[in-house]
Amino acid sequence: MIAAASAAAFAVAAGASGRWNWWRRKISGGMPVLVYHKVGDYPEGSRLKALWVKTSQFRRQMEYLKKRGYTTITFSQWRDSLIAKTPLPQKPVLVTFDDGYANNYTEAYPILKELGMKGNIFLVYEMMDGHNAWHDPATERHVPMLTWAQIREMQEGGVMEMGSHTMRHRNLAAIPAEDVRWELVESKKRLEEKLGREMVGFAYPYGAGAFVPQVRQAARDAGYFFDFAFRQGISPAAWKPEMGAIRRLYVRGDDFMLDLYLNLTRGRARL
Ligand SMILES: [Zn+2]
Repeated sequence: MIAAASAAAFAVAAGASGRWNWWRRKISGGMPVLVYHKVGDYPEGSRLKALWVKTSQFRRQMEYLKKRGYTTITFSQWRDSLIAKTPLPQKPVLVTFDDGYANNYTEAYPILKELGMKGNIFLVYEMMDGHNAWHDPATERHVPMLTWAQIREMQEGGVMEMGSHTMRHRNLAAIPAEDVRWELVESKKRLEEKLGREMVGFAYPYGAGAFVPQVRQAARDAGYFFDFAFRQGISPAAWKPEMGAIRRLYVRGDDFMLDLYLNLTRGRARL
């Protein structure tokens, strides 16, 4: 009771502070897609701290989703609802992880498994079993990426569905069209060969190219059912490709629970 009352007081104070988008109208009929990167404690010297969500915080957020009646779904479940009209749960939400860090397996996966929830991971094909070589180590420490054995275990258990995040995590808006095509087509092919599953979802590295017509067309031509942007917002559950790349909700390491609530209901937490 006391906790609830203080949370409400905090929410009112925070809303009044103007830092949060408290005043926005609630969105209905949307498909909220949360974006995580790394789960755990950020390493010393990391300049991208906001991309790290603590394990305890991740657990609280997942428990919050459950308590509020949300059901986590996979890319395939969303796709099936659109093409085969299979019904979606009451309050569907996608939990996505970009890049494919080993901490998705060590930190996030046990929590999702324990709570009976599902996630989706966008893999950078050539970096798996290695480290995040695309980051400048002066900005972000090199950390291990998932191994193929970990990826298979998470996939086979039905807890995580894999998607593509290209071959090398290059900026698709800044490389030649031929390379863009290769990043998109080759990663889909290799991941499908390796994992024996269709890659239904694709996410643009850095979100780059999601709103550049030629790049987006190349992603569509590569045959992905869904293409995910890194732009804040909530796309309709009845999404069609003509509506543009799917918007997502960035979960930051310094988020409060209020941010999660506003993200899910308003499509945006902060100003
Ligand atoms: Zn990425």
